[in-house]
Amino acid sequence: MPDDCLFCRLVAGEIPATVVRETPDTIAFRDIAPKAPVHVLVVPRTHHADVAALAAADPALAGTLLAEAAEVARQEGIDDGWRLVFNTGAPVGQTVFHVHAHVLGGGRIEGM
Ligand code: 5GP
Ligand code: ZN
Repeated sequence: MPDDCLFCRLVAGEIPATVVRETPDTIAFRDIAPKAPVHVLVVPRTHHADVAALAAADPALAGTLLAEAAEVARQEGIDDGWRLVFNTGAPVGQTVFHVHAHVLGGGRIEGM
């Protein structure tokens, strides 16, 4: 684990988070600066820089991450409509280089 990685440190319990769901492979927690009424981040416990690196290194874990995102949407009561975002690369605003799925919903979100 890169010891300068914020989400590796969060997974290790070194940084507090409001955890909403955990599995042996993933952890889901509320975004510290929510951009929607429901804004949960889902991450694998293992370090991969972004979704492309994750899909290349461990496609099964990428599938698990998607399934967990859907489970979070169900648990949060937004499964009638939600958005999944993976910022991939600094040019589109990725700021934490440990892959994370943004699960967004619970109200109107700007269109794309
Ligand atoms: P990115 O821009 O890399 O796709 O998303 C990073 C997200 O992590 C941002 O939405 C930001 O608000 C969130 N974030 C940054 N630091 C922390 C933190 O320490 N705890 C939590 N829960 N979220 C964080
Ligand atoms: Zn990491």
